[in-house]
Amino acid sequence: MARSASTRKTASSGRDGNRRTTVSSRSDGDGNHVHNEILLALPRAESEAVLPKLELVRLKLHQVLHEPGETLKSAYFCNSGMFSVLNVMPDGKSVEVGLIGKEGFSGTPLVAGFRTSHTRTVVQAEAVAFRVDADALRAALAKCPQLERQLNRYGQLLAVQVTQIAACNRLHEVNERLARWLLMTQDRVGSRDLPLTQEFLAQMLGTRRSSVTISAGTLQAAGLITYTRGKVTILDRRSLERAACDCYALLTRQVKEWQSQNA
Ligand SMILES: [Zn+2]
Repeated sequence: MARSASTRKTASSGRDGNRRTTVSSRSDGDGNHVHNEILLALPRAESEAVLPKLELVRLKLHQVLHEPGETLKSAYFCNSGMFSVLNVMPDGKSVEVGLIGKEGFSGTPLVAGFRTSHTRTVVQAEAVAFRVDADALRAALAKCPQLERQLNRYGQLLAVQVTQIAACNRLHEVNERLARWLLMTQDRVGSRDLPLTQEFLAQMLGTRRSSVTISAGTLQAAGLITYTRGKVTILDRRSLERAACDCYALLTRQVKEWQSQNA
């Protein structure tokens, strides 16, 4: 069950124009529920040490959180919605290599003591996150061994995704990749309605827009999804799983296997 956090709301707007909310405790109140699984896994003492360092931010669709080469000023515990991790080439082309939902966190290099990002993180579906300043995170990691452990474990899970998606982008057909991507997105967003444009989907899958149109049309004709301008609705998840390449099942199995290993 999600713990809730009572809040003290600040009067000011955030750096990015979002209303900011400072989380001062996790007791019940008029506060914001913590859905992020890393935060929920913390023992009470660590949770009480970490939550006051976080501020709740509402993030807009396509908002960039981190850019390659830039200093990581903040990290984000995703609380709802989804982030995409993109590999960006010098000519500006980019492809998605990871997806982050409420199970995850953007800013893993900070956990290893690095100060810059080598990928772009962009908000994929309107999201709410708990933001923490890099210095505050470093201070928390020094005092909170379970936080450090959870973030290290998550870093490994993200690395598994990156290696699988790299293989997927090279080896599998666009319609299989699209099905895999829709399943991963639904797992994170928690809704059968996914706000997506063809252009953005093409960028995520590293393919041409026309290929996305054809693949989405194929899935729609088979009754698996409906696709209108700017929105995909998943109608038949089981069939979508069958239409996806092996990557979705492999990733799901690996995550379950590692989550069962607590040594
Ligand atoms: Zn694949």
